Amino acid sequence: MKYKTLTLKRGKEESLLRFHPWVFSGALTAMPDDVEEGDIVRVVASDGRPLGVGHFQIGSIAVRMLSFFDIEITPLFYRQALEQAWKMRKALGLQRPDNSAFRLVHGEGDFLPGLVVDIYGDTAVLQAHSPGMHFAREIIAGQLVKIEGLGVKNVYYKSETTLPYKANLDAVNDYIIGHSDNNVAVENGLKFNIDWLRGQKTGFFVDQRDNRSLLEHYSAGRRVLNMFCYTGGFSVYAMRGGASLVHSVDSSAKAVALTDANIELNFPGDTRHKAFAEDAFKYLDNIQPEAYDLIVLDPPAFAKHRSARRNALRGYQKLNAAGISKVAPGGIVFTFSCSQAVSREQFRLAVFSAAAQTGRKVRILHQLTQPADHPVNIYHPEGEYLKGLILYVE
Ligand code: SAH
Repeated sequence: MKYKTLTLKRGKEESLLRFHPWVFSGALTAMPDDVEEGDIVRVVASDGRPLGVGHFQIGSIAVRMLSFFDIEITPLFYRQALEQAWKMRKALGLQRPDNSAFRLVHGEGDFLPGLVVDIYGDTAVLQAHSPGMHFAREIIAGQLVKIEGLGVKNVYYKSETTLPYKANLDAVNDYIIGHSDNNVAVENGLKFNIDWLRGQKTGFFVDQRDNRSLLEHYSAGRRVLNMFCYTGGFSVYAMRGGASLVHSVDSSAKAVALTDANIELNFPGDTRHKAFAEDAFKYLDNIQPEAYDLIVLDPPAFAKHRSARRNALRGYQKLNAAGISKVAPGGIVFTFSCSQAVSREQFRLAVFSAAAQTGRKVRILHQLTQPADHPVNIYHPEGEYLKGLILYVE
């Protein structure tokens, strides 16, 4: 075997034997000094027993496991993993004439740690979160276009901001295969301009699809405020759901322009919608009480790391207190956290504190999570990141 071998300290093999895909640097004995970032390495127990192969990286997570067998990582390996991911999405029925946006690969959730692939029609946007996946990008792109029925013709690589900064990989966002100027994707029959060249993440937050559908269901006749709107996903669904007015707010002027464009694409000339470039906290402070019957709070991850968790929880509490206190009686609040470092319990506790602070009667109608195309590998509970509550406020 051509791969370099990393040896675990005694007793540190437990988590790998239970298929957890990460090896922490503290679990390793001294490393061969010629191991380089992004290398494929073999991992063995202290007694030499092989535990599998993975991508090596400098940092607290030292190896992201690709296989728990001592195999060679070939193009066929990626092909088979991608085919499995596609087989599962086919079972979910996400590729339809009225739906062309979905996640094909969700990192550890698809047994491909460090890799994200979102599909927008015939374009795949590929994002690497590890140097190993960065080095494998061309092989992966080459396999993606070969998958039968998936229909991918173009592969855009977008990892400038997702790779570890210190690895100095100088990743450039660009097409690996093909090129497309048709960036309109369809989600549940609604059209969205996807800006994979300049947008956040892969250009769109596909993970809110199911929650947006629920919002549509609750929108009829309601005055809706979509806070942190980004591309206006929730706003477009609220419009179709028959909201009497929809206001979208984002601190980024670019996001506001994207939202306006997506509303225009689906509801040209409809005067029910207005978007505002403003800070969420300021906006909520300034609105009249009872101005809205339905408020969506979908902020960016307040805690990117565990160390930021306390401040994040305070932020969620403050935001939710503002939302709950302002919604009209009989109103509904959709509230989310996408911080992986904040657990479902902690988030719910923050919302509980917020509700108590307002003194209003609040009930939980739904508990929300990420959709099925963002699966959680059962051996990697850290993969569960999106949490939401739908509240009914008297
Ligand atoms: N709800 C969106 C995703 C939200 S992403 C969707 O369904 O697609 C988070 C958004 O919050 C970003 O667009 C970012 O520009 C915006 N944002 C960050 N801080 C903000 C603040 N203080 N006030 C208002 N918007 C903010």
